[in-house]
Amino acid sequence: MASIAFQDVQKSFDGVEALRGVTAAVPDGRFVVLLGPSGCGKSTLLRLVAGLEELTGGDIAIDGQSVAEVAPRDRDVAMVFQNYALYPHRTVRQNLAFALRLRRAPRDEIVSRVSEVANVLGLEALLDRYPRQLSGGQRQRVAMGRAMVRQPRAFLFDEPLSNLDAKLRVQMRSEIKELHQRVRTTFVYVTHDQVEAMTLADEIIVLNEGRIEQIGAPLELYDRPANRFVAGFIGSPAMNFLEGTVEAAEGSARFVAEVGPSLSLPPGHVSAGPRIAVGIRPEHIQLAPAGGGGRADAVVRLVEHLGHETLLVLDANGLEMTALLPRLTGAVAGDAVTIKVDPEQLHLFDREKGERIG
Ligand code: ATP
Repeated sequence: MASIAFQDVQKSFDGVEALRGVTAAVPDGRFVVLLGPSGCGKSTLLRLVAGLEELTGGDIAIDGQSVAEVAPRDRDVAMVFQNYALYPHRTVRQNLAFALRLRRAPRDEIVSRVSEVANVLGLEALLDRYPRQLSGGQRQRVAMGRAMVRQPRAFLFDEPLSNLDAKLRVQMRSEIKELHQRVRTTFVYVTHDQVEAMTLADEIIVLNEGRIEQIGAPLELYDRPANRFVAGFIGSPAMNFLEGTVEAAEGSARFVAEVGPSLSLPPGHVSAGPRIAVGIRPEHIQLAPAGGGGRADAVVRLVEHLGHETLLVLDANGLEMTALLPRLTGAVAGDAVTIKVDPEQLHLFDREKGERIG
């Protein structure tokens, strides 16, 4: 097992700054997910750990030792790629045994390691097949098995589930999580899929344009996003944002939106005056029929029945908002509604810098 430390890691490719000073720690045995949109530098960071790229600046240490000058094969980390990277002309057994053969491990050890890993991953019946005779999920399992037989200090996963269909992705996600619980080795896992990150990670490092936006446990990021980027990236359906100003009201502050509903703010967070952005998670919106005086915050534009929940797309005076409610059989497009949100569930952000307020 191993801890991994990133110290001001920088990486440029011909003038493209892929990483602009990343400092973070992956504790021993932890499942850490690198999450961010396409091009944010997450794969580059992983490839730097594996030694597949060279640092432009800063340092990476594994178990306290800088690996900047250590050859990839001496780093004792195993990478599992999105495209599986299996040897097509070797059987599953030979694919699994390959790294140990290369290391000239004793035959008995190879046989027992391969059989142990095949057993853990349910590959026993497939050992004599070739990769082309396997399904996507089975290939992915072989790719993981090939990493496991080496008993590396850390596993590095680069979007390992991207090529699988939705159902298989959910199944493999559970398998990877169970694998981590079983082996308790350090896992660093790259994905752009926030659901995957939330369900797998002990800790998530959110990257954007080569920089860290926030590091935290999944629910910390969900409950207290440090800025508007993280707030918008974590959570599905995505958070609604309203822009407006804070006005003093009796005993508390009130948010007056430029477009969309005005809302009561939690006491003590902001004083009157500043222009802020307010974030509302779709699941925190409560709806009531429009008031007697005809006052309505929004009109229902679209109703999607998801089964145990109903998703509504609302038109709030020109601002599109999403609400996720417990199963709502009666709602139809065209309904006029008022919007209510518990002030304590609002997220407030600085309008210019995007940072969290309060
Ligand atoms: P994705 O999810 O699309 O794979 P990512 O977050 O993993 O994205 P990286 O692959 O790390 O992003 O790339 C970060 C940036 O570095 C991108 O702008 C990319 O174009 C650039 N980049 C990555 N590898 C190279 C390379 N070998 N040569 C030039 N530019 C590169």
